[in-house]
Amino acid sequence: MDKPAICGGIPVRDTKIYYGHQYIDEDDIRAVAEVLRSNEITCGPKIKELEDKLCRITGAKYAVACSNGTAALHMAAMAAGVQEGDEVITTPITFAASANCALYCGARPVFADINEETYNIDPAQVEALTTPKTKAVVAVDFTGQSVELDRLLSHCRANHMVLIEDGAHVIGTRYKGRCNGSIADMTTFSFHPVKTVTSGEGGAVLTDNEEYYRKLLLYRAHGITRDPGQMSHEPEGPWYYEQVALGMNYRMTDIQAALLISQLDKLPVFSQRRKEIVKAYDSAFAGLPQLVVQKEIPESDTTRHLYILRLNPHRLRIGRKEFFEALGAENICCNVHYIPTYYFPYYEKLGYQRGICPKAEKLYEEMISLPLYYAMTDQDVQDVARAVTRIAEFYGKGPDEA
Ligand SMILES: *Cc1c(COP(=O)(O)O)cnc(C)c1O
Repeated sequence: MDKPAICGGIPVRDTKIYYGHQYIDEDDIRAVAEVLRSNEITCGPKIKELEDKLCRITGAKYAVACSNGTAALHMAAMAAGVQEGDEVITTPITFAASANCALYCGARPVFADINEETYNIDPAQVEALTTPKTKAVVAVDFTGQSVELDRLLSHCRANHMVLIEDGAHVIGTRYKGRCNGSIADMTTFSFHPVKTVTSGEGGAVLTDNEEYYRKLLLYRAHGITRDPGQMSHEPEGPWYYEQVALGMNYRMTDIQAALLISQLDKLPVFSQRRKEIVKAYDSAFAGLPQLVVQKEIPESDTTRHLYILRLNPHRLRIGRKEFFEALGAENICCNVHYIPTYYFPYYEKLGYQRGICPKAEKLYEEMISLPLYYAMTDQDVQDVARAVTRIAEFYGKGPDEA
């Protein structure tokens, strides 16, 4: 691989920029310090306050805050009744947790291919892969763009399946005017620092279904209840509680909840800025035949978590690896989201083979995630766009060149 000098002498910038970064202000720090000075740093009042706020923001009836997005998916799969012998359909272009939640419950993940323009799970593929064993669909709003909820929901209703929306990227997005989080049977969020809002580590499940809600509360805390209505025996005294299900400890602390409550106040400005950056990138790349821009569907008013640059192999003399390295030489430190889940050795050993989702596999070969986060300056955005353009043009080729 040629070194950066050939691409234009000196790098577009002399300090490194990364693909994602949290934004923490003094209000966030004050909110956390306040909890640290209080009596309850976990199982305290901030959890309910956060859950109420998530409901208010999304329009969901119930929210259950938990330790991370992976825990949220696990609890949602349990609440959906996923168990041994079941199948759960999901996309391979996601973080491994979207499929792992089926494995935690003893079920088999089934991978459906993507729409090659939006990169989201293709509802037609979900329909084709549905069998009498299919218990649930885990649909990922990849990059923050909503999946086709109407079609997925009606298919799930008709086949007695549960639609779990992995909304780790989606907070702030609206589907046909309604907030994601209030539409699927259950929606999970992640509040890891690279996501749009953060609690350090954290997650939540949102639902309108009271039965799921009760189960989620149990699974979050060992399966233990203090509600006499859920007990098998007469309470023996004020100390008494019962374990009535096999749950986990997936609780969030009040320290984390306070941080997230404060972060959520900034969601509108975070969302606005992310939209601006996406617009700037889209218009910078629109005229470059070497690049492909992710298609936006009009139903989704998207708060983008990731910006995916897709390379057009017919118009470039280099592959993804070389492009990625050339960006690194310009001090633009990117990432790739995601390696198809079934490529991992753990999945290979379970019998999954390459080739089952050709569109997802092709996307993986051609994709790079560019920096996208609230705190990026206009200069940062310009630097990234300039570096991408410089590399695309330098390594570009005509449509008929070999
Ligand atoms: C981040 C992420 C998760 C997992 O969330 P954690 O909070 O890191 O456990 C699950 N699914 C998707 C699509 C994600 O991006």
